[in-house]
Amino acid sequence: MVSRVIPVDDFDLVIFGGTGDLARRKILPGLFRRFRAGQMPPGARIVGAARSEMTTAAYRKTIEGALKEFLDEADCDPKAIKSFLGTLDYVRIDATGTAGWSELAKLLRPDIIRAFYFSVAPSLFGPLAERLHKHRCAGSACRIVVEKPFGRDLETAQALNATLAEHFNEGQIYRIDHYLGKETVQNLMAVRFGNMLFEPLWNAQHVDHVQITVAETVGVNGRGEYYDKSGAMRDMVQNHIMQLICLIAMEPPSRFDPSSVRDEKLKVIRALDPPEASDIVRGQYTGGGEAAGYREEAGNPGSTTESYIAMKLGISNWRWAGTPFYLRTGKRLRARASEIAVVFKDAPHSIFGQDAGRHRNILTIRLQPNEGIQLGVTIKEPGPGGMRLIDVPLDMTFADALGPEADDAPDAYERLIMDVIRGDQTLFMRGDEVEAAWAWTDPIVEAWTRSGERPHEYEPGSTGPEEAQMLLHRSGRRWREIRP
Ligand code: NAD
Repeated sequence: MVSRVIPVDDFDLVIFGGTGDLARRKILPGLFRRFRAGQMPPGARIVGAARSEMTTAAYRKTIEGALKEFLDEADCDPKAIKSFLGTLDYVRIDATGTAGWSELAKLLRPDIIRAFYFSVAPSLFGPLAERLHKHRCAGSACRIVVEKPFGRDLETAQALNATLAEHFNEGQIYRIDHYLGKETVQNLMAVRFGNMLFEPLWNAQHVDHVQITVAETVGVNGRGEYYDKSGAMRDMVQNHIMQLICLIAMEPPSRFDPSSVRDEKLKVIRALDPPEASDIVRGQYTGGGEAAGYREEAGNPGSTTESYIAMKLGISNWRWAGTPFYLRTGKRLRARASEIAVVFKDAPHSIFGQDAGRHRNILTIRLQPNEGIQLGVTIKEPGPGGMRLIDVPLDMTFADALGPEADDAPDAYERLIMDVIRGDQTLFMRGDEVEAAWAWTDPIVEAWTRSGERPHEYEPGSTGPEEAQMLLHRSGRRWREIRP
């Protein structure tokens, strides 16, 4: 199969925070991979803009180091790195002052695509937006990309949206959630809306429940102080998992375009029920062996922040009323695994009798690792001995089905940055979506704060607190195994 790379038009991309962790680890390595794939036009230029005093030559050296550190060795072709570095410039800039702005304005070229990536703390979004306008860097055709976290509650998200809206219209603002750039997440839409097979069954009549798991093996080390102010609910559920729920639950949009897709996602968020306190389990990992526990890593001995959360959610609309969505996410768990499982109902009557056992079709969408989609189908166990039934997977692990091309697929950041250049907002969150997600999240978090309730403890390397098992057990269901 020949890989299809659609080139983009010439552009100037300015990365505010161009020396930061995100720029070095994700944005620039991603851009380099697109450059190597032949997607960047000869007229593409990237400008790193940050607080440090350095020359363009020194910046190129820094980024060369980052590419070698964060890319696979096979990607690090020295000739390609050298020509990629030639597309980089650097400007020392003060987001809250005057330094660097006229230099930046002089560097930007007229009449080509212009994008500004705000890879800085959200407190700098306003000052950057204001200065971009004051120094005439931002015309009506430019785009800005903003990173998470987009607010920490409804009020702060509304304030951020209002600040950006003073200088940019909604069509210019690209709020990134890298989960939406994942190959399998987009495939979820292709599977749902590109096949006749699933859509007639995709409802409460046929789906028993949905499980979403985002499990990490890492703790919060290094990010403890930041994480402790946020917790799993704000860090994972309000954004990434909410986006996954939307894509599973939304109605078919009339077209795969930004407004149609985002309108349907918004309707899902608005239909989410507020969960009962008894439908939520929060957890915090303890220490184990040499490893520190959550509180120690967060530097907060009395912390009540959750490093794990499991919830049962209801969606009040005709399609989903009565079908629970179970989600769980946490740190320091048994394995790193993200998957969505759509568990279909039992056949209404088993003609094979009780001995045949209970079998269900489960559609599993695996986000990481081993991206792919699997459908569990019940068949007869081969051999003599009557009708014994077993479940076997119809497997579409991308690496097996698509060969080396699957490995070469752009990662989430690469794909999303190219979408920005193309001007396609479909895979970015709209302001009203973000606000609706916070409006649903806020009362839940406020209730915890009011109660001062401590999360349940769980051991590192486990599947989370015991209490989370009960969320499903009480209705006769069980969590799927967390496996790498
Ligand atoms: P960082 O601290 O490593 O880098 C911050 C960058 O901002 C530096 O380049 C610094 O020079 C620049 N900067 C700071 N103050 C400035 C000022 N006054 N004027 C001009 N430049 C200034 O941060 P990071 O980890 O790269 O994160 C950047 C943003 O992306 C943050 O909002 C973070 O929450 C978000 N984010 C980061 C990650 C990640 O993996 N690092 C993931 C998701 C979201």
